[in-house]
Amino acid sequence: MNLFDYARAATLADAVASGRAEGAAFLAGGTNLLDLMKANLVRPARLVDITRLPGLDRIEPLADGGVRIGALVRNSALAHDAMFARTFPAVAEALLSGASPQLRNAATVAGNVMQRTRCPYFYDAASACNKREPGAGCDARGGHTRLQAVLGWSEHCIATHPSDFCVPLVAFDAVAEIDGPRGRREVPLEEREVSLEERHKPLEDCCKALKEPQVVLLEERHKPLEESSDLRRMPLEGRHKPQEVPQEEPQEE
Ligand SMILES: Cc1cc2nc3c(=O)[nH]c(=O)nc-3n(C[C@H](O)[C@H](O)[C@H](O)COP(=O)(O)OP(=O)(O)OC[C@H]3O[C@@H](n4cnc5c(N)ncnc54)[C@H](O)[C@@H]3O)c2cc1C
Ligand code: SF4
Repeated sequence: MNLFDYARAATLADAVASGRAEGAAFLAGGTNLLDLMKANLVRPARLVDITRLPGLDRIEPLADGGVRIGALVRNSALAHDAMFARTFPAVAEALLSGASPQLRNAATVAGNVMQRTRCPYFYDAASACNKREPGAGCDARGGHTRLQAVLGWSEHCIATHPSDFCVPLVAFDAVAEIDGPRGRREVPLEEREVSLEERHKPLEDCCKALKEPQVVLLEERHKPLEESSDLRRMPLEGRHKPQEVPQEEPQEE
């Protein structure tokens, strides 16, 4: 692990200002970032701890039937919030299908959206990976691709977005409210996801987007449940099926 500075942000403005430093990364639950740091796959020069930012741990119903979810709401808190689970059962179920109870207690919703890919080649420092080192190439192409993307891949990267939470959020037209050096703006999560995954875009553009430090707040826009009820099971299908284990040939005596 590299040496890094640590700063705890007291306000949102503080976080945005601290996050502008070269090599800065926001630290929320740490369940993804710290793993990557321990494996020496990411080497931030500064960790900006945002866990004490006030007001970002709220789940607020909106007048139009939507819900505003603060960036620091823990995955388990959102999944078990009675109002939210009743209004958006698909999202609550998707959250509960991910990781373990311990991880869900620590992980934040913004951290879930912003987590890095689970592509095994990304985690293998000996493999070429455009996401780790832009321009290095992609060893996943032509490699083991069982868990890679079928739709929406590019010649630069064939990884899927790793979050279960994001799948129903995109189906419900969720919007990310982003506060950064350019001020506050709203981005449909579908677009945000595309840019995060470096799809359909020249690599340089995407790297710029990834480098810009941002604090993400999420807002979920309402769609009547009847309209989306057929989507309810979609993100869960095909998950947690037993892995196919190749049978060993019996040894000849
Ligand atoms: C063993 C294991 C199994 C897992 N299984 C699943 C699974 O089945 N399904 C699933 O969906 N996920 C799974 N995950 C991933 C897990 O959901 C993420 O690690 C977690 O959601 C990240 O949240 P965090 O708050 O800990 O983020 P952190 O680790 O603190 O941060 C992750 C990234 O997000 C950035 N970030 C955090 N907050 C903000 C913010 N407000 N604004 C801008 N950037 C921010 C950080 O800088 C960092 O780059 C698993 C993780 C582990 C370790
Ligand atoms: S698929 Fe993406 S994350 Fe995986 S090795 Fe290729 S560039 Fe890296």
